[in-house]
Amino acid sequence: MRYYLLTIFFLFNSIIYSQNSGDYPLEIPIILSGTFGELRPNHFHAGIDIKTKGSEGLKVYSIGDGYVSRIQITHGGYGKALYIKHDNGQSSVYAHLQKFSPKIEKIVKEIQYSNESYTLRVYPKKNDIRISEKELIGFSGNTGRSFGPHLHYELRDEMDRPLNPMTFKNYPVSDTIPPVVSGLYYKKIPENSISGSNSSFKKLNIKKLSDNLFISDTLKASGLIGFGVNSYDRMNGTWNKMGLSNIEANIDGDKIFDMDLNSFSYDEWRHINTFVDYASYKNKKIKIQKLYIEEYNPLNMYDRTLGDGIVKIIKKSELDLYSIKLFDFNKNYSEILVPIQWKEQNDLSNKKSNLLNMIDIDTDSTYNLSFGNSVVSIEKNSFYTDKKIQIFEEKNILNIDKDSIPLLKGITIKLNTNRYNDSLIDKSYIARIEENKKSSFVSNKKENNRIVAKINNLGNYTVKVDSIAPEISLINMSENQWISNRSKLMIKINDNGSGVDTYRGTINDKWILLEYNPMKGILTYDFNDNINKTDSKNILEVEIKDNVGNIKKLKTAFYRQIKE
Ligand SMILES: [Zn+2]
Repeated sequence: MRYYLLTIFFLFNSIIYSQNSGDYPLEIPIILSGTFGELRPNHFHAGIDIKTKGSEGLKVYSIGDGYVSRIQITHGGYGKALYIKHDNGQSSVYAHLQKFSPKIEKIVKEIQYSNESYTLRVYPKKNDIRISEKELIGFSGNTGRSFGPHLHYELRDEMDRPLNPMTFKNYPVSDTIPPVVSGLYYKKIPENSISGSNSSFKKLNIKKLSDNLFISDTLKASGLIGFGVNSYDRMNGTWNKMGLSNIEANIDGDKIFDMDLNSFSYDEWRHINTFVDYASYKNKKIKIQKLYIEEYNPLNMYDRTLGDGIVKIIKKSELDLYSIKLFDFNKNYSEILVPIQWKEQNDLSNKKSNLLNMIDIDTDSTYNLSFGNSVVSIEKNSFYTDKKIQIFEEKNILNIDKDSIPLLKGITIKLNTNRYNDSLIDKSYIARIEENKKSSFVSNKKENNRIVAKINNLGNYTVKVDSIAPEISLINMSENQWISNRSKLMIKINDNGSGVDTYRGTINDKWILLEYNPMKGILTYDFNDNINKTDSKNILEVEIKDNVGNIKKLKTAFYRQIKE
């Protein structure tokens, strides 16, 4: 019966969207790969990700009348993105596009060719580019920081705050599956309420009683306990892991915690690091969603009239029952019951830390600290709360604790270049050493015999030298080849050291638009841009510069038939 109903539902669904309805940006049935408010590294997801059947080039339509308020093309982030301000005051955003509609594409190319730049950010004047409801505005793609073709679609209110399009537009998505629970965690909170508790989460076993009901082992503890849960939602017809919509917690039937993941603003989305346990995420890739509110947590997604969600376990005869309800957008829910029993416990938080080089950071103070040849400058309020962190320099590597404490502000580091001779100093840069021993370039500037960088994550940093030029190779042609039938020219570029910084290409000395896909390391030129119309012989030149200024050039000839 259930399957029968689902079939009907999908049929119904595809009938609705076999044509564009005006409310919805695509023509295919809606299946999501990402929900609103979903937990992403360093932010809450501000839109919905709509699956595009694994391919690019699907027509994207405006969801209402209005005008283009912003066109943006970046290598990372949203890639090619279009922002429309609607006449009702709301805005919509369409990101990771393959290209824009011919009307907008024409304007974009003019700007690109006049700026000689693929990337751009323009804010057309009000009503300069009018768009009507259901008008074609672009084609879905995979540009920017995207891990597969999809349309990222956002809706914003008059004040430019993100709205959940699912709430405002009532899209018929099929979701009858309750949230999946993958782990229950708890943590002892110090009585003196110092937020900088260094204890980590412990896992509590859970048993499945039914489709959406779980029970944990009895938690035997005393004092203050904070709970956390690792959970995600699934929808019918897709295996993607999506976010929850609401989380509630009760103790003996009284609500002590209520969180709505549908309401956040762009200026607070980075504070996701106060909701998801940063250390567990960075060290074990586990997203523990905290069911209590630390005093420094600035998010407005909680019902704060209920208190901070911390459970106090005091000595008495009967058992307490703590319960958690996890809701998805369709109000399917999973519930976890946690029996709690008082048990005398020694306070382990008094354990002295014997680590060397520990520094007490008071968030209200500024620090300028020297370690060997390096300097670390920490501004006020760089951390959420007072912290003890370990900093030292060893074998020319500056170790600033581990990336398990989130930062509110960047920290300035200055590393010494004295160990390099002058010719190499020019080619030096600050690299961050990742867990897997790989290193990545950190934007920096030179200052006398030091290199200075602002870092947004704790961890290990060192000075590296890159004296090797980038690599360039032709993908779909060879030197002096006739390529009259090619519509595109593709060039592979790569730099193993400091990474690619800039690229520039010309055909017969005229600048050409090369679209850069950094994830693939590919530059693409579209022959429709039609640079050369007079001669069948063409000279292509490409120049790539890496982040420390090493340059590689490629010069080659190719032939194309002149078409009338
Ligand atoms: Zn997205």
